[in-house]
Amino acid sequence: MHELSISRALLDQLAGLVRQHNATGVSAITLCIGPLSGIEPALLRAAYMQSRKQTVAEHADLIILPAAVRVLCQECAAVSEATPARLTCAACACSRTRLLSGDEMLLESVDLEFGA
Ligand SMILES: [Zn+2]
Repeated sequence: MHELSISRALLDQLAGLVRQHNATGVSAITLCIGPLSGIEPALLRAAYMQSRKQTVAEHADLIILPAAVRVLCQECAAVSEATPARLTCAACACSRTRLLSGDEMLLESVDLEFGA
C-alpha cells in the first residue's frame, strides 16, 4: 500500500529530526499535499495513525493542508492557479502550461517536544 510506505518514510524522517535536535518527541506535524500527488489524504492519515505507535510521533497531531495547483503559461508567462482536471492558464486560457506545484507532498512544519 502506497500510503503506508509514505507514512513509514515520514516517521523515519521525524525520528531523524528528533535525534538531530536532541528532542524527546514530536507534538504536531503539518503536511502539504497536492491534488496531483497521487496521495489520498484520508488514506495517508489512516496509515499514519496505524504506523506511528511506539515512535517519536505517537502523540503528534497530523495536519494535512491541500497544496494549490499552479501552472506557468508557455504563451503569456503568467503564473496562475488551475484545477487538477484543467491545467489551463487563467490569464489567456491556453493549455500550453507547465505544472509548478500541486503534484508534491511537503513536510511543511514539525513541532518538536523537549523534556519530559
Ligand atoms: Zn497564458
